[in-house]
Amino acid sequence: MNNQQLAAIFNLIADLLEIKGEVIYVILAYRKAAESLQNLGREASEYWKEGTLREIPGVGKAIADKIDELLTTGSLRFLEDLKKEIPASLAEWRQISGLGPKKIALIWKSLGITTMEELKQAAQDGKVAGLPGMGEKSAKLILDGMESLSRRSDRLPLWKAAPVVEDLCNILGSLPGVATVSPAGSYRRGRSTVGDLDILVASENPSVVMDAFTSLAGVSRVLGKGATKSSVEFSSGVRAQVWVHPPAKFGTALQYATGSKEHNVAMRQLALSKGFSLSEHSLMGQDGTEHFFATEQDLYAALGLQWVPPEMREDLGEMALAAAGKLPRLVELADIRADLQNHSTWSDGEMSILEMARAAMARGLKVIAFTDHSQSLGVTGGLTIERHAEQQKEIEAAQREVGDGIRILHAAEVEIKADGELDYPDDFLATLDLVLASLHTSLRQPRDKVTARLINAINNPNVDIIGHPTGRKIPDREGADLDMEAVLQAAAKSGVAMEINASPYRLDLDDKYARRAKELGVKISINTDSHSAKDMEAMSFGVAIAKRAWLTPQDVINTWSDEKLLAWLKDKKSAN
Ligand SMILES: [Zn+2]
Repeated sequence: MNNQQLAAIFNLIADLLEIKGEVIYVILAYRKAAESLQNLGREASEYWKEGTLREIPGVGKAIADKIDELLTTGSLRFLEDLKKEIPASLAEWRQISGLGPKKIALIWKSLGITTMEELKQAAQDGKVAGLPGMGEKSAKLILDGMESLSRRSDRLPLWKAAPVVEDLCNILGSLPGVATVSPAGSYRRGRSTVGDLDILVASENPSVVMDAFTSLAGVSRVLGKGATKSSVEFSSGVRAQVWVHPPAKFGTALQYATGSKEHNVAMRQLALSKGFSLSEHSLMGQDGTEHFFATEQDLYAALGLQWVPPEMREDLGEMALAAAGKLPRLVELADIRADLQNHSTWSDGEMSILEMARAAMARGLKVIAFTDHSQSLGVTGGLTIERHAEQQKEIEAAQREVGDGIRILHAAEVEIKADGELDYPDDFLATLDLVLASLHTSLRQPRDKVTARLINAINNPNVDIIGHPTGRKIPDREGADLDMEAVLQAAAKSGVAMEINASPYRLDLDDKYARRAKELGVKISINTDSHSAKDMEAMSFGVAIAKRAWLTPQDVINTWSDEKLLAWLKDKKSAN
């Protein structure tokens, strides 16, 4: 049983306990354990074998016992008993917006129905409306909620979310009286997929913002419009909500709306321990005096904390570090000076080497590597060794053209073939400035086989970086079934860097594996995998993943000076 399966079980337990009416802290404990398992860079089964389950954040004795039972027997007595009390199919109803656990319990107990179909029927034929405290309006809300659920997937890929957020921030930011606009929620925390979009606006004149937001082109449905908060659904299925707060209280509101839930629970507990209660609006003393904060920095400082970067706000130990003034100096976009995976017209890219190099220069980069595809990947126009010799000439010409502006590396994205062999012979690989090895084909091989392919590439002394290690595509393609722990251990041993592919379609490694890589001392390379100049914008997404993994500039080879990077590329080869 893997971490995702365990997390699903704990979320199911939490859903059912909510419907049962269990106290909130018990439910939160299960949610927290589920979240933590989803973000863990190692399998819980490995902790279990070592007898160290309780080292997993959010896993106390009760949860550890349940994981033990699940891993030992494959099932859980507690859940089986719970399902006898509360039908498991009711947990699906929790995804319908506007239908909370109390209403679910009421409908189920009064009407004796348990499935989505039965619920739809009962909402249509007036049975739901006839229940105490429900009415026509509630029934309509449920039907609307069911319809929009069928239309959208629960998490948005960043490539879909980012343009919407950017547009909203631009439009709202230009309204009269608006001081600041910021995304909040999981988007601001840099997660690789996001739920509904949350945007916060600082203004003394909320009605202007609410009117503009709810009447935007592209809005298919206004889900709610209030004096300071509104939410809409766009025709694409994307949902967004906008809150307006006075500028003097913006910091508190932004902190609250950014989350995560777990981080905010820890913030409230800390406030309580200092004699305050912290809300979305203010920090209130026991005598009722309210303190307002225009910026998050002021709020964190009032609680004796360093300002915590949003990407770290997951209650994974950041609170203690912030209290001690010891937060790591995370890597920032401005630290990135090299982009080490790019494609040109020599394979499947859209722009020439010179055009791409100039675009990278314009973004302030000092090093760009061209990693056009290798020969076996025919669909991408993969290069033969002869074509590489011609490409080398064009790179030299482009280098003369740009002078000292940027250093152009002649590299390759070498296919790791289905049998584990690399797509070029070693003596040729040794002549390249940089070798990035990737899997694109036969991703569905059995775990042992696909893991062995990657490890074989890692152990080749000519390989510098493993590109998009799992091969996942967001949202539809799962990565290969890899033993990532074995892969990362091999990379640690050989000194190969693992990529955080910054493309919003990939984000691979994800934050949990990047964190584990850092623990093992594996270097990380964040690259955009650009096929045109526009793609280079994705670097910020990759940096966000790196920040979520708590990476510092030292961990990321793209931040290194030319001398250090080139020496590393060279040493790697000679050290092996
Ligand atoms: Zn690739």
